[in-house]
Amino acid sequence: MASAFEIAGLSVQPGTRGAGWLHIARTPSGGTIGLPLVVLHGRREGPVLAVDAATHGDESEGPLSLLTLLRELDPAALRGTLIAVPVMNGPSFDAETRGNPEERHHYDLNRAFPGEANGSITQRIAARYFSEIAKRTNAIVSLHGGGNLFYLDGFVIAHSTAGNSLDLIKGWGWRRFTDNPDVGVNPYQGTMHQKCGELGIPSITIEMGGSSHRSPEQLRRMKREFTRGLRNIMIHFGLLEGKPDRPETLWSIRKQNIRVNDGGIIDLDDQIDIEKEVGKGQRLMTIYDPLGNVVEEITAPYAGRVMGLPASPLAYPGRIVASVYQVVKEIPV
Ligand SMILES: [Zn+2]
Repeated sequence: MASAFEIAGLSVQPGTRGAGWLHIARTPSGGTIGLPLVVLHGRREGPVLAVDAATHGDESEGPLSLLTLLRELDPAALRGTLIAVPVMNGPSFDAETRGNPEERHHYDLNRAFPGEANGSITQRIAARYFSEIAKRTNAIVSLHGGGNLFYLDGFVIAHSTAGNSLDLIKGWGWRRFTDNPDVGVNPYQGTMHQKCGELGIPSITIEMGGSSHRSPEQLRRMKREFTRGLRNIMIHFGLLEGKPDRPETLWSIRKQNIRVNDGGIIDLDDQIDIEKEVGKGQRLMTIYDPLGNVVEEITAPYAGRVMGLPASPLAYPGRIVASVYQVVKEIPV
């Protein structure tokens, strides 16, 4: 029999669930900025797994899926402990934007880790997560997506220095993964991922969703896929019993995000869609200015498949408008 699990003022008895806020600060009108915690503590001792969502406030498929799974789970049946943080960046979630619009210095929470206890509000959120949650866990899973501006079909990211990350990728059980998040410049300093790797905490980032596919049918598909992965990873760690629902082989992919140079209005080529095969140099979309002139044609950097597309016809300069991938190798699970 396990003993009570103590975290952030919560004392969760074995076989039960606890929920509460890890308070960080008050808003000007007196509301709370904090981390919502739901802890499911099993009857039997076991690993501690943390799952978080909405580090970016416009990626709301993750919170939806995590809350769905939490409703379905019976803590008495668990071995070990699940710590869920369904909304990491409350102010950005309220605003439905990637970062907190009131944040002047560290807009993107996922570039602010491990944070600073006396820093800006975004740094404080990152610091509290690291000091009170991340260090208590055996592994961390972060749920992300394409947000307001982009649709991304599902894949898993691991930082190559994070121990056991391939093991986690297999445990999650989605087809595609990469341990090389992007090419070219490295804009990934300060991700939770990177800091977990430095601290030796195994972690993966899950990417799926975005506004363009928020039809009821697509939303249900995302919920199914996220909850499938969440159950798989809990089975992988022995928190849940059962057989994982996953393919027999996984694809290690090489992915390239393509950015526009100048702004304009995107006209996607008719045959281009998610998972469509494209040839090297094939046109994906054309960017027009408001006078109707062609600003730029966006082409595939190599033969592969389309994994991400814009959620809006508006192209802001420097913004990612497409993501194309190639399978580098197949890996048996
Ligand atoms: Zn994100």
